[in-house]
Amino acid sequence: MPSFDRVAVVGAGPAGAFLSRLLSDAGFEVEVFEVLPRLAVKPCGWATPYTIESFFKVPEDAVLCEVRGYRVYVEGRVEKEGWGRKYGYIVDKEKLLEHLLEGITLRRRGVDPARLEGYDLVVDARGHVAYSGVKARALQAIVRGVSVGDGDSIEIFFESEFVGYSWVFPLGGSRVKVGVGGLAEFDVLRARLHSLLRVLGRPQVERVEGGLVASGGLVPQGSVPRVGEALGAVMPLSGEGIRPGMLSSLALFRSLTTGSKFARELEKTGLPLNIRVQLAVLRRLKSLPPKGRAELFRSAPVEILECVTAGCVTPAFIAKAMARWPLFFAKLGLPARAKPQG
Ligand SMILES: Cc1cc2nc3c(=O)[nH]c(=O)nc-3n(C[C@H](O)[C@H](O)[C@H](O)COP(=O)(O)OP(=O)(O)OC[C@H]3O[C@@H](n4cnc5c(N)ncnc54)[C@H](O)[C@@H]3O)c2cc1C
Repeated sequence: MPSFDRVAVVGAGPAGAFLSRLLSDAGFEVEVFEVLPRLAVKPCGWATPYTIESFFKVPEDAVLCEVRGYRVYVEGRVEKEGWGRKYGYIVDKEKLLEHLLEGITLRRRGVDPARLEGYDLVVDARGHVAYSGVKARALQAIVRGVSVGDGDSIEIFFESEFVGYSWVFPLGGSRVKVGVGGLAEFDVLRARLHSLLRVLGRPQVERVEGGLVASGGLVPQGSVPRVGEALGAVMPLSGEGIRPGMLSSLALFRSLTTGSKFARELEKTGLPLNIRVQLAVLRRLKSLPPKGRAELFRSAPVEILECVTAGCVTPAFIAKAMARWPLFFAKLGLPARAKPQG
């Protein structure tokens, strides 16, 4: 049986809120600390792939839109697209967090997890501020007067001038989020955002927000256990952190309640392998000039692209893909049968 009863979770993002829900439902006494006055203030595109459903049912009223199509552009041309099935969701993150925290004590103040006393267990879920690895930057504008497809598809613009991409995500009606993120300075991202807004016909901008994203992969656990972005549970290339953060919380919950090692539980979720794969691709993209990056992306089989971005890469998938697309793996710098290194 676990040797703890009172738990403090510091940070009410997806990782902290999901861990709190799991622990509270299992009968533990949980208190959550959140420094900001509202939930989901942190800039985020609110997109999550359908693979979240393998462990969590997104509440209906927290779904802004089911994503049923995507288009990826390289230098103004559509290079990859997919239609006609569910690729993921745009969630209302505030509603999602409210659901997760229902009935759980939420204290609106900032605390240092290492100094918090009076609890049997303290968990650090403070997001990127607590992450010690490499961080990418992202900027996004919430705009009115733009519609994408039938309002249920997303648009991605592969960037070759820097390692990153831009996005247009629907928010319902004619509101969308237009963002750009990657390994570039904010000045570069700002210029790119403005050129994208020009292409979209200079829509009315409600606000522009920016932030950092952990992109260096998982870091070792410290004396205070970490989940979510604090642990580096973010897909390094796509910057997706909602589902990975929640998966890391599931792993910590299982480890705490069964006594099994956290690293083992985390590995079982498939998250570390998927992070290692994205890190390997990220490294390759960094090593190439802009033209080489665009070419590499153009030559990527859509099946690989979809699997890598949905976070559902398995060792079996890698083996099959290497046998089927050896030339692409050679371009990636991963010879057949080589394991992507973390
Ligand atoms: C512009 C942008 C767009 C993004 N788009 C997407 C996307 O579309 N899909 C996706 O999956 N991911 C996206 N991400 C990444 C995603 O937002 C994060 O990875 C994810 O929210 C991390 O969840 P978390 O719970 O670990 O941390 P966070 O969501 O960052 O939550 C941490 C919480 O801790 C609080 N906190 C910090 N310090 C303290 C303290 N001392 N005391 C108390 N509370 C504290 C913070 O206020 C915050 O609420 C995006 C990121 C950016 C910057």
